[in-house]
Amino acid sequence: MQAMIELKNVSKWYGPVQVLTDCSTTIHKGEVVVVCGPSGSGKSTLIKTINALEPFQKGEIYVDGVPVHDPKTDLPRLRSRVGMVFQHFELFPHLSVTDNLTLAQVKVLGRSPDEALKRGLQMLERVGLGAHKDKFPGQLSGGQQQRVAIARALSMDPIVMLFDEPTSALDPEMVGEVLDVMVGLAREGMTMMVVTHEMGFARKVSSRVIFMDVGGRILEDCSRDEFFDHPEARQPRTKEFLDKIL
Ligand code: ADP
Ligand code: MG
Repeated sequence: MQAMIELKNVSKWYGPVQVLTDCSTTIHKGEVVVVCGPSGSGKSTLIKTINALEPFQKGEIYVDGVPVHDPKTDLPRLRSRVGMVFQHFELFPHLSVTDNLTLAQVKVLGRSPDEALKRGLQMLERVGLGAHKDKFPGQLSGGQQQRVAIARALSMDPIVMLFDEPTSALDPEMVGEVLDVMVGLAREGMTMMVVTHEMGFARKVSSRVIFMDVGGRILEDCSRDEFFDHPEARQPRTKEFLDKIL
């Protein structure tokens, strides 16, 4: 199996505070890995190191074989291949949905405006929002904005998709529509790393679950079935966490 994301003993400090401790894991093509754990355990930091949005001091990260830690690596090119969706949708508020979808395709990938528009609209249809192409982000609900953000990331034809709590800023009635899009992506074989506490999503489509604990330590990294069906084999900290959120 092809390794799409490989972390080897990654450690990071903010000044004297260690926020990632010796993190190692490998995500293969087509795997959907859910990352959970208490607030402050380094989940966002971990996921951001993968496309070099956060530097790290020790260890190695490879994305499709490309060394993220190597100063010679072309980071803009790497980032263009790694789709990222955040908690807050981060669409450009002054641009229409269409312009949000096409901007990076033209600027970063060098696509023609026509080609970018075609790809963008395909992806917008895919998230069920074709009818909203001429609106501005402020005219859409939070769930719709997040679906546009996903369509924008997909328009870049990413080789992996990273999600950082994509539904946690949404009103409850909008969580489902965003998760449905993510479930569809997972079923089509997209390689995904998803920070979320939506354990229904994890049970439905994840292949593996990583649990992080304070200090940025990966405490568990096991198959979904192992994670959910064998609580007796989990660490006490994991059980405590699951008891709170399930
Ligand atoms: P999580 O996403 O699991 O809630 P984060 O990755 O956001 O955790 O944060 C991990 C740790 O790093 C926390 O202790 C947080 O306070 C600290 N941290 C995050 N960003 C910064 C920063 N820019 N400067 C200093 N400390 C930070
Ligand atoms: Mg976070």
